[in-house]
Amino acid sequence: MSQDWDVIIIGAGTAGMPAAIFAAERNAKVLVLDAAPEVGGTLHLSSGQMSAAGTRLQKEKGIEDTPEMHIEDIMRISKNTADRDIAGLAVDNAAETLDWLEAINFKPLPDHPVKGQAHEPYSVLRYVWGADLGKSILAVLKPPFEEAIASGKVTLKLNTRVTALTQDDNGSVTGVAAQSDSGASESYSATSVVIAAGGYVANGAMYKELSGHPAYGDHSYPYCTGDGLNLGLTAGGTAWGHENYLTSFGVVMQSYDVPAKVRCRQIHWPERRMPWEIYVNAHGERFIREDEPSVDVREHTIQEQPELRHWIVFDSTTLKEAPQLFADFGPDDIKAAAEKGEPMFYVADTIAALAEKAGLPADALTETINTFNTGQASGQDALGRQNMPRPITDGPFYAIRSQAFSVSSTVGLKVNTDLQVIREDGTPIAGLYGAGEALGQGAMMGSSFCGGMLVTPALTFGRMLGQRLLPLGATAQAAE
Ligand SMILES: Cc1cc2nc3c(=O)[nH]c(=O)nc-3n(C[C@H](O)[C@H](O)[C@H](O)COP(=O)(O)OP(=O)(O)OC[C@H]3O[C@@H](n4cnc5c(N)ncnc54)[C@H](O)[C@@H]3O)c2cc1C
Repeated sequence: MSQDWDVIIIGAGTAGMPAAIFAAERNAKVLVLDAAPEVGGTLHLSSGQMSAAGTRLQKEKGIEDTPEMHIEDIMRISKNTADRDIAGLAVDNAAETLDWLEAINFKPLPDHPVKGQAHEPYSVLRYVWGADLGKSILAVLKPPFEEAIASGKVTLKLNTRVTALTQDDNGSVTGVAAQSDSGASESYSATSVVIAAGGYVANGAMYKELSGHPAYGDHSYPYCTGDGLNLGLTAGGTAWGHENYLTSFGVVMQSYDVPAKVRCRQIHWPERRMPWEIYVNAHGERFIREDEPSVDVREHTIQEQPELRHWIVFDSTTLKEAPQLFADFGPDDIKAAAEKGEPMFYVADTIAALAEKAGLPADALTETINTFNTGQASGQDALGRQNMPRPITDGPFYAIRSQAFSVSSTVGLKVNTDLQVIREDGTPIAGLYGAGEALGQGAMMGSSFCGGMLVTPALTFGRMLGQRLLPLGATAQAAE
């Protein structure tokens, strides 16, 4: 059967752009389709934090690190819930990706690599990002991507959403059907199709179905609506990772809408700021020692609380004297927001009145605070908290509602180590490959966040597919 294209790439984002760049370098004839009006996908929003072991940068700075050490860290942090084969494949090839990014002008921050802060830290310095976060990566991907288009090897069609995969009688994928914004239906055939269409966080219904929780946060790329996963499943693929849903600890939302944008971010890392406040759940009960040192423990504990939320409760002396609770939102802002009755911020002269405003059970909150205050006086906290700055005694009293949510998709398409999408019985669907968040974060990091293990694998698997798919291409001439 004659083919229009050697490779069709669905999605011109984090994984899709390197796939196209490397396939073009090897003279493949590449079609890239993206539903959005511009390239870049989630790199427009991502923090762009990447982890890789054995990079040129690490060697220059005398940091000893290997892919074996990296995968052992991932298995330790994830408590063996990451997929050793797929995460291992990403880790084994990550340094080459980072070295390539630097060769095309990516500049990590001067004091990088670091061990990481946002999630459970790595054991060595292997974590980097640029000054402009995800956009720093996009900025260096664009020139070679545009060159590949200019050379005629890559054809890019924006505003074009892939709606179906075409398959022959044996189930092999032979191309795609797509719809442009003008409403025109198009179909293209290819030897290989790469699903690089990202995750499903912008699809509230799908997010809820797959995670069991609403998508509380409105911080995803709007075109990541789960098409990649759905296309792969319809073609016979299988999904994995459902058991690995995890959120960050908590942020304060702008409104009670679902989803809502973030208003301010709580500094809940005791190494950055020791908590003076207490955290209570919807039952008005403390559920964790607030100075719990492990971010992984904090992230898992919040999963067990109703609606993944907690209230930060404190008194007016803490408001005045404690180090700032939010990075860009000071005590005066908290006071003003609470006095104006803005969403998530509550203030009242008594604990009972505070409970009523915040929607918490008054008796339980009163008892919780009494018990906490007794612990502060005796030096023995009921939950083992070590940081004992003061009791909650001086009205007016404050509560701030904090919501946990995730910006990435846990569930994804199952692939083998050739990045072929596989069926439930493990057999590959000929002609169909996957990279990026469409594979689900569970594969890369199991049920814990491992820093940089979405962006780096997306770039890496895209690069590897661009390099590897060529031998299957009918018209390509390898430029060895
Ligand atoms: C706020 C935020 C911060 C993050 N920070 C980090 C971090 O620091 N480190 C980390 O490792 N991860 C981070 N992540 C996650 C990481 O950025 C993403 O997992 C990764 O960028 C996804 O890459 P991708 O190639 O799979 O998808 P994307 O980069 O999103 O690309 C997918 C592309 O596919 C297109 N598309 C979708 N459906 C179709 C269709 N049917 N037809 C055609 N095109 C389609 C989209 O328009 C998009 O351009 C963060 C995510 C967010 C939202």
